[in-house]
Amino acid sequence: MRTRKVKIGNIFIGGGEPVRIQSMTKTKTADWKSTVNQIKKLQACGCEIIRVAVPDMDSAKVLSKIKKNIKIPLVADIHFDWRLAVEAIKQGVDKIRINPGNIGSRENVEKIVIEAKKRKVAIRVGVNAGSLKILKKSDGWFKMSQEKRANQMINELLENIKIIEDMNFSDIVVSLKANDVPTTVLANQIFSKKKNYPIHLGITEAGTEFSGVIKSTSAFGILLNQGIGDTIRVSLTASPEEEVRSGWEILKALELRKRGIEIISCPTCGRCETDLIKIVNKLEQKLLTFNFLPLTSQLKVAVMGCIVNGPGEAKDANIGIAGGKGFGLLFKKGKVIKKIPQTKWVSEILKEISNQR
Ligand code: SF4
Repeated sequence: MRTRKVKIGNIFIGGGEPVRIQSMTKTKTADWKSTVNQIKKLQACGCEIIRVAVPDMDSAKVLSKIKKNIKIPLVADIHFDWRLAVEAIKQGVDKIRINPGNIGSRENVEKIVIEAKKRKVAIRVGVNAGSLKILKKSDGWFKMSQEKRANQMINELLENIKIIEDMNFSDIVVSLKANDVPTTVLANQIFSKKKNYPIHLGITEAGTEFSGVIKSTSAFGILLNQGIGDTIRVSLTASPEEEVRSGWEILKALELRKRGIEIISCPTCGRCETDLIKIVNKLEQKLLTFNFLPLTSQLKVAVMGCIVNGPGEAKDANIGIAGGKGFGLLFKKGKVIKKIPQTKWVSEILKEISNQR
């Protein structure tokens, strides 16, 4: 779905721009030095937009310091207090995120919009199923059909968008997040047919690195494949670097973005005569901390356990190894270049990747 293009700091989102990867810091924002350090690590692993929690005025007041020390757009996440949003905008953030379920009256939203308009700062209106007004009035959410839940989320979102639109402000981004995949998918599908604002995708309280990645991938895979979604965040009870890495893997798997190394490896079976699982895990760990390639490139590296499927995959990759008994044939651009012992597979692959820089 073609959405409007909205400027967020030095990048655009929506309107055919690449799907952007976001994350959120896990430090205390008021401790701006630790926050900047975390953002720098995230920048290095490919985070393109960073959001920070602004729970109090001490956090709001350090946002300009954070902004000055980072390269990617800074988003302030505001709940409950419109004054924090106004201060964040004055501090120079590139976008603010407000939650209609807890920001209060129409007047409060209007005060935020006046400031955002003055300083050309975008606003994300983010609905989380957990803070819907209806939940405060009843406990019927779990008895509702997924369609009813999705429409409830959309209605609250539209109410808030209307307040902003009435003030002739259109630098709006939206998000509709539930903690279950079907409701999130349905809400975003229905909304994308109603309005053309860029959509940020996420699953709230998605869970740990294992289950959270599965939930997010399931939802994002469906939606992004249908052209719905302009930015993503894989929310995890894990390090923010893991959120960014997972986000990139999802976009690479869907062939929406290219970056770094794509590892192709077989699951192993009774024909495998090397310790392939250990070797591939070691290779993956090495590649995480080794920034080999510019963001626009992608190299395929195949590591295969035997000669049944091994040579085919190894030949098709930029660099490949097809295993034998304790050794492997190293392929480069489809040709065997040497036979190497199992103990040298990782170092030889790293050497070949470095040569391709
Ligand atoms: S490549 Fe060989 S070892 Fe790996 S799964 Fe296939 S048959 Fe088994």
